[in-house]
Amino acid sequence: MPEGDRDHILRGRHLTRFVDFHCHLDLYPDFEALVAECERLSIYTLAVTTTPRAWSKNKAVASKTKYIRVGLGLHPQLVGTHSKEIDLWEKLLHETAYVGEVGIDASPQYAKSLPEQKQVFERVLKACSSEGGKVLSIHAVRSASLVLDMLEEHLDLSANTPVFHWFSGSPSEARRAAKLGCMFSINDRMLTGSKTQALLKAIPEEAMLTETDGPFTETGGKTSRPKDVHICVNHLATQIGRDPTAVQSLVFENLKRLLGQIRREP
Ligand SMILES: [Zn+2]
Repeated sequence: MPEGDRDHILRGRHLTRFVDFHCHLDLYPDFEALVAECERLSIYTLAVTTTPRAWSKNKAVASKTKYIRVGLGLHPQLVGTHSKEIDLWEKLLHETAYVGEVGIDASPQYAKSLPEQKQVFERVLKACSSEGGKVLSIHAVRSASLVLDMLEEHLDLSANTPVFHWFSGSPSEARRAAKLGCMFSINDRMLTGSKTQALLKAIPEEAMLTETDGPFTETGGKTSRPKDVHICVNHLATQIGRDPTAVQSLVFENLKRLLGQIRREP
């Protein structure tokens, strides 16, 4: 993000905007049109990627925008077949303050690659620690405790901020994450079901961001787009007993505070 741009956000001389802090823009068939849509609607969007080979194209497109930032990723579900790409990932890290999608997926279909996933994630965390100033969008399926152990062991938490995307751990794991300074990008799918209230009680309001995780989620029977994030805001507002406008501002203030913690942006 250009310095002036970040200062603009941090000064707060603007309207409150929606935030989609985890969306795979480059996996939509109309990638460039979607980028234009996010710009037109002024939605602060973190475009996560699944392989570092997607970095250059995403960076080129996002560099012309005001509202889109790109995460340098290596998706845990791809590590079984793409683990060698961690070398390229490490080479590119100095170009960005945003990392993701990274993490651990311990579901049965990815169990075979779990040892490699751990090695790759450890390298990700150590590389972020040595540079500092990174925001990490983290996938932790059936692995919240393991990921938290790894964050404590390998990530300099005073200089980097992990953001759990679509957190599916327990309320006590959420409390542990919050104590470590982690944030949470909450999507609409997290807001249905009997465990929602207990989980939301465990997540401090100042740690809440919003996301769609499109195109892997649907809104109204169609693939979710960043513009649908307002529905998540509405549902989150209902769940925590706040006004939707207040939740929109809360999330936007949380984003500003997070950006303020990025000491140095390339
Ligand atoms: Zn994702």
